[in-house]
Amino acid sequence: MVFSPHKPMALRFYNTLSQQLEDFTPSDGKTVRMYTCGPTVYNFVHIGNLRTFSFQDILRRWLRHRGFQLMHVMNITDVEDKIIRNAMQQGKTLQEYTAPYEAAFLEDTDALRLERPEKMVRATEHIQEMVEAIQGLEKRGFTYVSEGSTYYRISHFKEYGKLSHIDFSGQKSGARVDVDEYDKDDARDFVLWKARKDGEPAWETPLGAGRPGWHIECSVMAMKYLGDTLDIHTGGIDLCFPHHENEIAQSEALSGKPFARFWMHAEHLMVESQKMAKSLGNFYTLRDLLAKGFLPEAIRYLLVSVPYRKKLNFTFDGLKAAATSLERLRNYKLRLETDRFSPGLNAEIAEVTTRASAAFCEAMDDDLNTAEALGIVYEYVRETNTAMDAGQFLEGNIPGAQQLLALFDSVFDVMRPTAKGNSISDADVETLIAERTAAKKNRNFTRSDEIRDVLSERGIVLEDTKDGVRWKRK
Ligand code: AMP
Ligand code: ZN
Repeated sequence: MVFSPHKPMALRFYNTLSQQLEDFTPSDGKTVRMYTCGPTVYNFVHIGNLRTFSFQDILRRWLRHRGFQLMHVMNITDVEDKIIRNAMQQGKTLQEYTAPYEAAFLEDTDALRLERPEKMVRATEHIQEMVEAIQGLEKRGFTYVSEGSTYYRISHFKEYGKLSHIDFSGQKSGARVDVDEYDKDDARDFVLWKARKDGEPAWETPLGAGRPGWHIECSVMAMKYLGDTLDIHTGGIDLCFPHHENEIAQSEALSGKPFARFWMHAEHLMVESQKMAKSLGNFYTLRDLLAKGFLPEAIRYLLVSVPYRKKLNFTFDGLKAAATSLERLRNYKLRLETDRFSPGLNAEIAEVTTRASAAFCEAMDDDLNTAEALGIVYEYVRETNTAMDAGQFLEGNIPGAQQLLALFDSVFDVMRPTAKGNSISDADVETLIAERTAAKKNRNFTRSDEIRDVLSERGIVLEDTKDGVRWKRK
């Protein structure tokens, strides 16, 4: 029997639930049903958040490369403690307060070329389903009511702790928590339905006037669109406990079936050994970095260059190095397109190319080892650049090299430069300027200022002259 030296290994992922690498195929063999905990839209997301979302993008692209279809759902958390507090302070409805941040999230993820999940769903549009799920839990004896709020009794769910692998046997039961953020390693009965406090926005429901807890959102939306058992559930590592543990407790108590087959968690983006976090004030938004002149592709490159289960330390030197590496790859691509090579095919180089493609795929199959995959591409570029200098790289070797780059870029997606000025067309600029002039005439200065800001963000500078508005690109 002859073994092929490049027999593809199985696609395998590290599953937080089993704490092991496991071979992956979707349960129906075709479509991966996947859920991602989305952003809480109370502010701009930071690049730590975007690291986790970038990992999900790489995961999506590699699953598709492996021939699977995707049904990927992401929630938008648009009701939560901080949102309520900020909206009330600013005298806005929840929707008025969250809409700009939701739009900004989509802009940021677009700039980083993150594919949109097949479905993005808002928590506030699923209140009815959440109430029904809580009533289902009530029927099964998993809830109790205290001071108008409904809580989940975790001592009734025997497997509590199976995802985070924390032993909760010594915890005293009955202690409650009803804020959306709480201490690590402290298992307490969590709130499913939170009774309304003074003046808070609330929904009138059979559970009383109030709003859903954070955890029930994800269970309900995941199961509504993906069924009782998902193929993959993803999120940042900080969500593993308590959020994901609580999602399991809710969903499995309701369905009696495993909630997700694979749990994949991305490690943190760090700054000087601390997690990048809003609360620590050590964060950068994508907008901060773009304003400093960094390319979105270089930021994407940096975020995905370290395998998702390793911490990634953010530094400006690291970001500059990412930009330089990217430049090197682009120069190589240009060289393939513009240099003159002698006719013929160098069989040895063809063999190196085939091996590099296979090794790239193996690295990605190995729990998305992006660092190794990148290393393979670099080694290939180094070797073939040397061969080009020595006149050994021949015309017939071009398509193979280009295919390898295309394979790389189908996942990394960094080779194409982003159009300048955020790609707004002249015609769109003119339309917005006309709208601004009309708004000013109607003394709608909020709208006219808004349009100026929108244009400014896209690098368009306006100058009001006595002959009308002049504009230029920055
Ligand atoms: P949040 O909006 O706070 O729920 O966070 C959105 C996503 O970003 C979640 O999956 C978090 O786990 C993730 N996240 C938060 N901080 C970081 C960080 N410093 N590095 C990587 N991911 C993070
Ligand atoms: Zn969630």
